[in-house]
Amino acid sequence: MREYFNSNDWLIIEEGFEPEYNRVSESAMSLGNGHMGIRGNFEEKYSGDSLSGTYYAGIYYPDKTKVGWWKNGYPEWFAKVLNGINFIGIDVIINGLELDIAKCTVIDFQRILNMKHGYLERSFVAIDKNNNKTRIISKRFLSMDESEIAAIKYTVIPLNYNGEIILSPYLDGKVVNEDSNYDEYFWEEVEKSAEDNLCYLNMRTKKLDFRVSCAMKYELFNKNDKIKPKEMTLVCKEDYVANLLSVPAKTGDKISLTKYISVVTNRDYDNKDLVNKAVNAVNKAYESGFDNLFEAHKETWDSKWEENDITIVGDKKAQQGIRFNIFHLNQTYTGEDKRLNIGPKGFTGEKYGGSTYWDTEAYCLPFYLSTAPSKIAKNLLIYRYNHLEKAKENARKLSFKGALYPMVTMNGEECHNEWEITFEEIHRNGAIAYAIYNYINYTGDKKYLADYGIEVLVEISRFWADRVNYNKVKDKYMILGVTGPNEYENNVNNNWYTNTIASWTLEYAIESIDYVKKEYSDIYDRLLQKLELKEQEVDKWKDIIDKMYYPYIEDEKIFSQQDGYMDKEQILVKELPEGNLPINQNWSWDRILRSCFIKQADVMQGIYFFNERYDLDTIKRNFDFYEPRTVHESSLSPCIYSIIASQLGYEKKAYELYLRTARLDLDNYNSDSDDGLHITSMAGTWMSVVHGFGGLKVKDNELYISPFLPKSWQEYSFRILFRDSLLNVKVGNSVIIELISGDDVTINVFKQKYTITKNNKIEYRIII
Ligand code: BGC
Repeated sequence: MREYFNSNDWLIIEEGFEPEYNRVSESAMSLGNGHMGIRGNFEEKYSGDSLSGTYYAGIYYPDKTKVGWWKNGYPEWFAKVLNGINFIGIDVIINGLELDIAKCTVIDFQRILNMKHGYLERSFVAIDKNNNKTRIISKRFLSMDESEIAAIKYTVIPLNYNGEIILSPYLDGKVVNEDSNYDEYFWEEVEKSAEDNLCYLNMRTKKLDFRVSCAMKYELFNKNDKIKPKEMTLVCKEDYVANLLSVPAKTGDKISLTKYISVVTNRDYDNKDLVNKAVNAVNKAYESGFDNLFEAHKETWDSKWEENDITIVGDKKAQQGIRFNIFHLNQTYTGEDKRLNIGPKGFTGEKYGGSTYWDTEAYCLPFYLSTAPSKIAKNLLIYRYNHLEKAKENARKLSFKGALYPMVTMNGEECHNEWEITFEEIHRNGAIAYAIYNYINYTGDKKYLADYGIEVLVEISRFWADRVNYNKVKDKYMILGVTGPNEYENNVNNNWYTNTIASWTLEYAIESIDYVKKEYSDIYDRLLQKLELKEQEVDKWKDIIDKMYYPYIEDEKIFSQQDGYMDKEQILVKELPEGNLPINQNWSWDRILRSCFIKQADVMQGIYFFNERYDLDTIKRNFDFYEPRTVHESSLSPCIYSIIASQLGYEKKAYELYLRTARLDLDNYNSDSDDGLHITSMAGTWMSVVHGFGGLKVKDNELYISPFLPKSWQEYSFRILFRDSLLNVKVGNSVIIELISGDDVTINVFKQKYTITKNNKIEYRIII
């Protein structure tokens, strides 16, 4: 762990350049706008160590699965998120020498991510081998207002010389993925053109023929005067277009290049229209100008923060940490496009292939439910609804009835090929059902069940009903051979969490069917026919619910993570000699599997989801047993434990676990932020504050909060959207709730019920 970035409420500041830390900074400084994203790479050439990454939402490559021992049911291919056309590039040549800060002395270096208004700035002085001293200042953003547009202002100031500066803005399609084998190229050129002040490049991916078209234009200034280059050379070579602009410069000049970029894909337009669309978009951006584009972008960020900022007074690091998480979540998914979802690394790296995991339903959904209009969360649900047929095919492939959603997917098909995950981590199906419940509970949109929900619930239930096996001797249903959320155990029998969520899904499906039958009888009849649902089938579900087996540890009076958990040697994490943690880097896999150590919330995940079912003593006994055995080696783990610790009044523990999640990437806590950020766990961080410290719940259409104030904070506040009403909850020595906009809201603060009225001056002060 390392505190590398300066603390600041709204900025992530890197002061001084450390090449060995560059990849971590590049991850942290990533920009995105839901449509595309770029790591914090430099515009000018950099021959030092860097992970280049420009990613386009929904554009991927299906790589052939290669394994030594093929197992029936493995997917044929897995998805790779693709590094695509580099559109930020600007080469700089100073008196004949190419600027490359790996080959210069660099002083006064600053790279700053501005989270309030979503832009990246960089400033430094480079002294090259000719002793030419140049200050570079750059500022760039990917427009949140017009998602197909990006703009960069790149300024070169000669500090001790006169001469010639060449600036070469380019589009480069010759890019590779770091995870590709033998530098394999995934892109082919379709079309390109380089004219003076209008270049475009149209590339296609191999196999799936995704097309990305980028166009660019430029403006040149010296100080505030618009200038023309002395000479302009067009460069048009394989997969690459550029305008090479030569500008005479003298000491103190301020030569600025503004680069306007448009990015369109054939996910949105026909192939034949792509170039036109890109050119029109870039022309429009050029007409608007950098300042106007930036103003509109800034306003969009302002309104986002208005809806979902969290403020923390008295702890700068905590403040910076939480905003960093919210910022990246907002950049990753804007919810405009039902075909998109949230990859564990968002637009910040190649790992996890940019694919969708159960992380979305279990961790991300609550964030979008409370911080954005409900259609955004609904789109996340519809994404899975649209993949239902593929999930049914997937179940069929493994010879099951119903639907088994993939553990990892891009287009609804499974694209993960480790048997213990692909075949066994079936609990993901439960999270998808739970998300439907969660969405309806929060938004009150019960019509969703009739329109989409029932079909998904019925097919998931069918899978569970087929996957259980009946043990005649014990007269119990069991689920054998699974991997629970704790991936440090495989092929276990009766993972408590999996059995619990399976049985709960059946209950919820039955309850939902009854509801739709009663409230939407016309839709119900159609659904019944479509689903061919028979009474006997539902009776079988009821039998499974009644006779589901839940492993239990009598001596401890707790749920057993799975059958036989207590056969393991029971050691606590704190008893491990120094140097053993993280065990995934220090132990053999075999040793991990046999140990009692738990990677991430497993029983606790169930207790978090079905919290209302358990009394505090039960929750406490389970937490006290499992937390000391959990190594939290998944970024998704500390947040769940932090929330339960808050509920139990373990304030110190809750805060300690919160810190682990909040600054996970900023402080590179697990030494793994170089290849991208942990985007999905960022939603968990938000939950630790709002659900954990704030105690937010929704029950029977009413909001509940029961906040506490972590000791090192003077005050904190969070914003939540609840059914079109925006509330601000401030927690200090008292709790103050304000209605910012929307209708009156009923809210239960501890055990007291209040109605927050339209008069937004009214404050409810509850002393805590
Ligand atoms: C976790 C999974 C998670 C995946 C992607 C793994 O390390 O164990 O639960 O879905 O990362 O975030």
